[in-house]
Amino acid sequence: MKILVLNCGSSSIKYALYEMENGTVITSGGIEKIGLPDSFINVKLNGGKHKIDSPIEEHTAGVKLIFQVLTTGPYAVMQSLEELDAVGHRMVHGGEKFNQSVLLTPEVMEAFEACNDLAPLHNPANIKGVNAVKALLPDLPQVGVFDTAFHQTMPDYAFMYALPYHLYKDYGVRRYGFHGTSHRYVSQRVCEFLGVQPEGKRIITCHIGNGASIAAVKDGKCVDTSMGLTPLEGLMMGTRSGDIDAGAVTFLMDKLHLDTKGISNLLNKESGLAGISELSNDFRDIMAAAEEGNEKARLAKDMYYYRIRKYIGEYAAALGGVDIILFTGGAGENQWEVRAGATQGLEFMGVKVDMEKNKNCRATEAIISADDSRVTVCVIPTDEELMIALDTKALVK
Ligand code: AMP
Repeated sequence: MKILVLNCGSSSIKYALYEMENGTVITSGGIEKIGLPDSFINVKLNGGKHKIDSPIEEHTAGVKLIFQVLTTGPYAVMQSLEELDAVGHRMVHGGEKFNQSVLLTPEVMEAFEACNDLAPLHNPANIKGVNAVKALLPDLPQVGVFDTAFHQTMPDYAFMYALPYHLYKDYGVRRYGFHGTSHRYVSQRVCEFLGVQPEGKRIITCHIGNGASIAAVKDGKCVDTSMGLTPLEGLMMGTRSGDIDAGAVTFLMDKLHLDTKGISNLLNKESGLAGISELSNDFRDIMAAAEEGNEKARLAKDMYYYRIRKYIGEYAAALGGVDIILFTGGAGENQWEVRAGATQGLEFMGVKVDMEKNKNCRATEAIISADDSRVTVCVIPTDEELMIALDTKALVK
């Protein structure tokens, strides 16, 4: 069984073709700069990466090009598109309508489109991707896997903002959470890795990448997560502020004469690690500069760790204790310093990281806590594409 996973953004389409008999990626790649004169596709195959420049005016042309690359020319891996069994899409905002992955019927697409207001940049791009596949292969089953779905089990007291209640009813203003496919994958995978059942387990999943979020998972279900109505809330991120006093938002709009676009830009694109360090949004650069004595980089690093640590404490309280803490995402998987900083001083709650194990672990599944640590601390590389492929397989079977 062959499944194509698509992640359609406003000007990009990432793809991965899976052989589901063994869950492996046959080929993958991505189109970038859709609509611009220098658009191109990158194809990854057998360890090589190949760039093909090509004018790609819109999403249907992009999907068509991916289909072409898969079936003809030097990087072809299929005789024809008939070998394809289904397409699984990463869909961003499913609102309250979707608590699990679904087959994309016209009714489902209508319900998804109704969530556009909540993710005006992302959802329309997802829809374009689905429509492009439909236009080219109308009978091929398509499945939607939503970033927000895993967090739909949060109780109301966790997902509500203390705003006038009617704003929730009228506009859907509440916390939804994101990175749900990643949190679901790693929270399931860690149980397999440790040989335990999700039932009865209290897990804190830390997805620390350029975007970053934490989830509290009990009995395999999400009970809280750090991102909210939008992916701006919660941890300090590469360029996002994370939690901030809402009063500061109106204060800054007044002081800097910013409209909604201006303040959104400041909070989403000019803040976080990049804003504090005035240097970079990449944690590797921050680490290097801090080591050379750059004071703003030191501050950015300390703030970053401290916020993760605070959320771990908060979620231990939400869960009534914690059995497993895991790290994933680019920085969580690769940077031992982030894991060390995020768990420093948590011995009081039974968290004891073995620094040797921690330093030796890079982008691989591993236990990094000491043998006598009450809480098991792990690294679990995330694999959202595989999760999407598995959901798609389950729904089309
Ligand atoms: P992501 O958004 O998941 O790609 O993560 C981006 C963050 O992870 C950046 O802050 C990087 O510093 C860090 N990161 C990603 N890949 C690596 C790597 N191979 N080694 C060290 N850090 C990495």
